[in-house]
Amino acid sequence: MDADVIIIGAGLAGLVATNELVRAGKRVIIVEQENAANLGGQAFWSFGGIFLVDSPMQRRLGVKDSLDLAWQDWQGSAGWDRLDGAHPEDEWAQKWGRAYVEFAAGEKRSWLQQQGVRFTPVVGWAERGSLSAGGHGNSVPRFHVPWGTGTGISEPFADRARETDAVDLRFRHRVDELVFTDGAVTGVRGAVLAPDDSPRGVSSSREVVGEFELSAQAVVISSGGIGGDHERVRRWWPERLGTPPRTMVTGVPAHVDGRMLDIAADQGVRLVNRDRMWHYTEGLQNWNPVWPGHGIRILPGPSSMWLDARGRRLPLPGLPGYDTLGTLKILRSTPDLVEYDYSWFVLDQTIIKKEFALSGSEQNPDITDRDLALLLRTRLGRAAPGPVEDFKREGADFVVADTLAELVRGMNALTGDDLLDEDSIRRQLEARDREVVNPYSKDAQTIGIQNSRRFRGDRLFRTVPAHAILDPRHGPLIAVRLWIVTRKTLGGIQTDLDGRALNGSGMPVPGLYAAGEAAGFGGGGAHGYNALEGTFLGGCLFTGRTAGRALAGVV
Ligand SMILES: Cc1cc2nc3c(=O)[nH]c(=O)nc-3n(C[C@H](O)[C@H](O)[C@H](O)COP(=O)(O)OP(=O)(O)OC[C@H]3O[C@@H](n4cnc5c(N)ncnc54)[C@H](O)[C@@H]3O)c2cc1C
Repeated sequence: MDADVIIIGAGLAGLVATNELVRAGKRVIIVEQENAANLGGQAFWSFGGIFLVDSPMQRRLGVKDSLDLAWQDWQGSAGWDRLDGAHPEDEWAQKWGRAYVEFAAGEKRSWLQQQGVRFTPVVGWAERGSLSAGGHGNSVPRFHVPWGTGTGISEPFADRARETDAVDLRFRHRVDELVFTDGAVTGVRGAVLAPDDSPRGVSSSREVVGEFELSAQAVVISSGGIGGDHERVRRWWPERLGTPPRTMVTGVPAHVDGRMLDIAADQGVRLVNRDRMWHYTEGLQNWNPVWPGHGIRILPGPSSMWLDARGRRLPLPGLPGYDTLGTLKILRSTPDLVEYDYSWFVLDQTIIKKEFALSGSEQNPDITDRDLALLLRTRLGRAAPGPVEDFKREGADFVVADTLAELVRGMNALTGDDLLDEDSIRRQLEARDREVVNPYSKDAQTIGIQNSRRFRGDRLFRTVPAHAILDPRHGPLIAVRLWIVTRKTLGGIQTDLDGRALNGSGMPVPGLYAAGEAAGFGGGGAHGYNALEGTFLGGCLFTGRTAGRALAGVV
């Protein structure tokens, strides 16, 4: 045996499983197709948002949260409906969902603290949902931001893997096959890729320079999702979300290629819920790309007006920051929009200053570099955060103008589609703007803005007072063209509550475990159809920890 356990993929889930195994005195080989610069995978690039329930940070901001409320929200979002028959796709997904919410309401924060993770006092209100108590969405703010953003989550685990002799890191080793002996997984086989010293995130060469085979008592698949491969995303795109876009931007590095999932499926491992995915509708083309087609997601506050490609305000629940897949469905299934792959935010300088955050560790240098003074200057200052201003100035999707006529001309010129009519957009903006003069309103978005400002965190950091967008004192006017940005894979390898991978008969494949995005964040779909945000890193932590602990008991 070359090791006790082989881990496929050096992302967060693989690193957390490794951490548990090493603590239990086991020897681990991590096999990773990228180079050493990429240790930590997607988590390093992430914003780092973490879903916690009833935390001291929430309480300090006056938020009353509970396990019951979070579970109500989670179930409303998940909508698990594949529970019938002999081995239903949602059987383990639902159990993992419940276990995860209990973890988030219980041990998660203290355990993360023990691992060296530290949180800022910021709690965001992500994914407010579909506007009903029992439906999708977070009833309260739960999105906790750690110091270091994503690096603050991934690096403590990466450091431990780098530092110990118990871990053998095999970079530029790509697994092409699981090795079975008498029906049990006993190793992996694959290709040694040519050395490549590209910086983190840059897509690397796939030139093969050799072969390898490694053996162990067990193997963990923690190879991530499919978001880097648009063809795979289109292949699994569900009919319920309409037509897949022809053009998307890519919210994950190229190594999130989904290849290992198909290899596992071809070798008899059961994959479920492959049609469930989590792609955002507020994607920008990165003016300074790291990976091919690099897209950045705007984490929007509630005030921008959202227009479709034809210049019509989106129907509910198409409000910024509310319902990711509800909005995606509107954009991809409205018949006269299907041929257009973009929509628009229309806003003003006052809104962009406070309400635009960009997802990604590199887009938030204040928090990533743990610089409190810069954080306060950036989030409470008079200008928009530096990275947002950079996008406004350099980004291919921004139009800035002093008058609406000029703005609409710029929007039409940007797309070349000439679909936008100034009078129609003016009428809609004026109708919206007339609603903001009272502290109450019949306009759902205006009600949402006022609601948001009742939460101290949003009032301080994320939501401007309701005001007329056409009021020149808030100018200039800004339009942002938004693309679909690929990101998370919600389905995956079906696993039981120990993280053991199952086969088509619902039985564990001996010697095989799965964790992280590859396992649908637990059970092949712990989120169900929708996510509450901040739950992906958490899902990797929880599934990696569970698989690592279970394995430590058996190898
Ligand atoms: C910009 C960005 C922002 C995000 N923000 C948040 C957030 O705020 N909150 C949140 O909860 N989540 C967020 N996420 C999502 C979260 O980061 C990911 O879901 C999570 O990190 C996935 O971790 P993983 O270990 O499952 O997979 P990955 O990080 O994808 O790691 C898998 C690794 O496996 C390797 N691999 C794949 N196939 C093979 C093979 N055949 N052989 C060898 N190696 C292989 C890959 O190269 C990769 O290094 C964000 C993601 C991004 C990109």
